[in-house]
Amino acid sequence: MQIFGAQNDSDLSFLQQHARLAISEFEKIFGQLSKDIKIDLNSSNCLRVGYNYTDQLIYFCSNKSVINMGLNSSDVIYHETFHAMFCQKFPHTCTTDFLDSIDHRATHEALADFFAQQISQDEEFGENFYTDKKAIRSYATKLCYALVTGSHEKGNALVSHLIEKNHSWLDKDTWFDLEKFRIRTEESSKDICFAKSSALEISIKPTNASYSSLNRYRLTPSGILFLSASMNDAVLKRFPDFSIRFEVNDTEKFIISSIDEKTFAVKPLVTEGFSTSSALFLNGNDLVGRIPFYFGIKIK
Ligand SMILES: [Zn+2]
Repeated sequence: MQIFGAQNDSDLSFLQQHARLAISEFEKIFGQLSKDIKIDLNSSNCLRVGYNYTDQLIYFCSNKSVINMGLNSSDVIYHETFHAMFCQKFPHTCTTDFLDSIDHRATHEALADFFAQQISQDEEFGENFYTDKKAIRSYATKLCYALVTGSHEKGNALVSHLIEKNHSWLDKDTWFDLEKFRIRTEESSKDICFAKSSALEISIKPTNASYSSLNRYRLTPSGILFLSASMNDAVLKRFPDFSIRFEVNDTEKFIISSIDEKTFAVKPLVTEGFSTSSALFLNGNDLVGRIPFYFGIKIK
């Protein structure tokens, strides 16, 4: 492996030790690597900790919510090293075109998380990473693949399934279809959440503004945006105790209140600003899905 960027010795030895372990575990599964894994520390090109598919580099760098550039988290080292190794071995799965598919990105994330979980078999992925959170995510989740949008959340749903079924890398041919680049959840679970084109349909649209497919809405300082949710029978059948709740990240900027089970009012509290938010899908108390929303105040 090659490590760029000057660091202190204890960081370097922790990183080297865990990256070496990841390399030897990977080679047991997929055979020997032919090239070095490249890791860049505190580079000016680094936007966030992670593997960059274009640069073919693993970046670790400072961020106010991350402890020591992410270098203290062995799971993150395993996960990012996995991406780099997998892309070296199977470069066709790491091209921009291939990664255009959310299912492909989610599969990459699932494989990398499952790799970390198999090396260090505990409940959580990414301890010692965030300054304000115990870990990045729990491996076990009730998230429904079809009802989340991000690659990490979708990957999380896949990994949770693999763990539940007691799979390991030893039986990877039973659960991983490399040719189709797909984790075989559909066949083994019969769960509608993993169905290829999901029958689960939920839509949340405004009743007093035009619909944005990206869920980006601009409000006026005095205006209230009304959002109305609808879902098909498949949702209610799969999740008998289904409900929707909104979560706002900047609570000083917006307030979102429920008018009834399916209608929500978004009210600005400031005259200028922007906030991300999520519609949370619950089944009883279990979080089963999430859709991001963006609310901004229009400046005249
Ligand atoms: Zn990743």
